[in-house]
Amino acid sequence: MVYTKRKIKKQAIIAIIIVIIVITLIITGILLFKHFTSNEYKLEQIGYNEKEITTLIKADDKILNKALTSDYDKDLIPLTKQKYFLWKNYNTYKEYIKDLATETNTIDYKDVVTKVNVNRNYDYYTHTKDTDMNQGNAILVNKYYKLPEQYAPEDIVEVSNWYAYGTMSIRSEVYDAFKEMFNAAKEEGITLIINSGYRTYEYQKEVYEQYKDANGEEYADSYAARPDFSEHQTGLALDIITYGTSGEEFENTDAYKWLQEHANEYGFILRYPKGKEDITGYAYESWHYRYLGKELATKVKNSGLTYDEYYAYYLDKE
Ligand SMILES: [Zn+2]
Repeated sequence: MVYTKRKIKKQAIIAIIIVIIVITLIITGILLFKHFTSNEYKLEQIGYNEKEITTLIKADDKILNKALTSDYDKDLIPLTKQKYFLWKNYNTYKEYIKDLATETNTIDYKDVVTKVNVNRNYDYYTHTKDTDMNQGNAILVNKYYKLPEQYAPEDIVEVSNWYAYGTMSIRSEVYDAFKEMFNAAKEEGITLIINSGYRTYEYQKEVYEQYKDANGEEYADSYAARPDFSEHQTGLALDIITYGTSGEEFENTDAYKWLQEHANEYGFILRYPKGKEDITGYAYESWHYRYLGKELATKVKNSGLTYDEYYAYYLDKE
């Protein structure tokens, strides 16, 4: 009896040990399998460091997938972190960074995203495309976005001398918006005067070619827009001044201060702000206002972006 009992006990212990070993092996196997098939392991194999892996695991699926399906990419995390990052520009960001890397070691990723979004990785008037006329009042016209050949808007109206210096015309919707703005400013003792409105293709061509004939293309490009690339040809742009000022002095006037605060309420934005010359392609022009409609003008103002940047991020449907 004693012998049998002891034998059974021994067999039971062996059985338990075997079960424990098997369970341990299974668990170890599962853990190893999990480890070698985990995204962390795969990212490590691709070449990402611990910090990058932590970031990528928490990033959205598209970013993680890009990392898992491509070679190691040092720019992936800093690029996708930028507020105005656009996936469709990814390869162009990379090309631009490659070009920059030969000049400098530190990459300003915010600047890369901004520049590429507005085509500033290309020289002015290169890589131009036809602007999307379906955007209506929101059309973008700059040194990369071109109006249809010899474009002329249909609803151009003559501006009364009451509002302008000389003979001027503008699109009727813009005229109505300007009159509303004019009256509001007038109530606060401010007089807004239109100094330039709609300019025809022919006019712009003449101006541009005069500059070009006199001093060459580079000079002409720094002083005038090429025909079909001018905002004034859209009939949606106005140069605004007030009594006793011209051009550069306008920014020191109460009229300018008033416009800074209220222009968006009537559908206008300052189109070429100070410090953004390299984005807009134009020198700061305190007098040049672009009509977008009240809602869009307010959104653009609140974004703090130039219209070129805003359009690229929020409106471009390509
Ligand atoms: Zn202008």
